[in-house]
Amino acid sequence: MIPIIDSKRQYATIGSEVEKAVCEVLRSGSYILGPNAKALESELAEFLNVKYTVGLNSGTDALHLALRALDIGAGDEVITTAFTFVATTEAIGIVGAKPVFVDINPDTFNIDPDKIEAAITPRTKAIIPVHLYGQPCEMDKIMDIAKRHNLRVIEDCCQAIGATYKGQTVGTFGDFGCLSFYPTKNLGAMGDGGLLMMNSETLRDRVVALRNHGGAVRYHHDEIGVNSRLDEIQAAILRVKLPHLKSWNEQRRKHAAYYNKLFANCADIVTPVEAADTYCIYHQYTVKIPNRDAVHQMLRDRGVGAMLYYPIPLHLQKVHEYLGVGKGSLPHTEKDTELVISLPMFPELTEEEQDTVAKTLIECIEKSKSALAV
Ligand SMILES: *Cc1c(COP(=O)(O)O)cnc(C)c1O
Repeated sequence: MIPIIDSKRQYATIGSEVEKAVCEVLRSGSYILGPNAKALESELAEFLNVKYTVGLNSGTDALHLALRALDIGAGDEVITTAFTFVATTEAIGIVGAKPVFVDINPDTFNIDPDKIEAAITPRTKAIIPVHLYGQPCEMDKIMDIAKRHNLRVIEDCCQAIGATYKGQTVGTFGDFGCLSFYPTKNLGAMGDGGLLMMNSETLRDRVVALRNHGGAVRYHHDEIGVNSRLDEIQAAILRVKLPHLKSWNEQRRKHAAYYNKLFANCADIVTPVEAADTYCIYHQYTVKIPNRDAVHQMLRDRGVGAMLYYPIPLHLQKVHEYLGVGKGSLPHTEKDTELVISLPMFPELTEEEQDTVAKTLIECIEKSKSALAV
């Protein structure tokens, strides 16, 4: 069995350090908003090349609190993509605003900047580009549109920690960048965690208050906040892992290049397009194939882990039925949801495993074609 991700293999390389760091937290008696969370915030600010970061308890809360800090709520519209994890639009719904979907560029799976302006109305307040699979969005075009229309930008970088666009870290272009430390992310905790990055001190102070019951000073509450703090155990674990992140991302890029080589002569397999001037961190390695669902099942039967991110686009989910954005509204999004399949991708993956994955995938596609021919 070749899994899509193998967290145990990574643990084998850093486990003793993690256990030591966790035990130190347990013995310290300081479990919330302690020295590890603080140190992680500054270590990540340096890694990301951003002025401030604020630790939170999930990527979903990062998105939610970014919208709150920008005073986006009832009656407002937020432009985003339907080709993403539901947390992106869930956050928009939590604050009472309305998601407005724009189709993707089928080369990168990311929001098509050339289609954003047509979706802007007098109620539009913000754009949430999602750097899906670790591939940066076209941030110069998006920031240009935002400036011209006076819109806020919240970057969903939950799959893209350390990715860059024209040399600049994603998450630092807009007002906020959102990170998730869900265990399977490129920098994963051993529980839930998230973080907001920002260059504005005012916005940082607002998030610091919002994450802790709406007040910067204990027992002084200025507005309705939430309980969304990154705990000390997760922060300590992330601090052990952070020094490895750069090389782990490099490993992923190496694996992606090797997959690309293995599939170079297969007309049936569309490999990821890495846009010019970007540094993609391959949270997923996602290809487009024919007979996707049949091939997915065959791969599973043969012990190759593969996943569909995401099988149903967000505009066609029941939760968004009320928007009235029906089938046919987002042609590229809908088409690609039926073609994409993500293959095993994690730093510790071996070339032999990649050979097996590639050979099996190619065989399964051939078999699916002859099965459908009879
Ligand atoms: C993982 C993820 C989130 C949510 O992060 P959580 O920490 O699980 O709340 C949001 N957006 C995208 C694109 C993600 O991949």
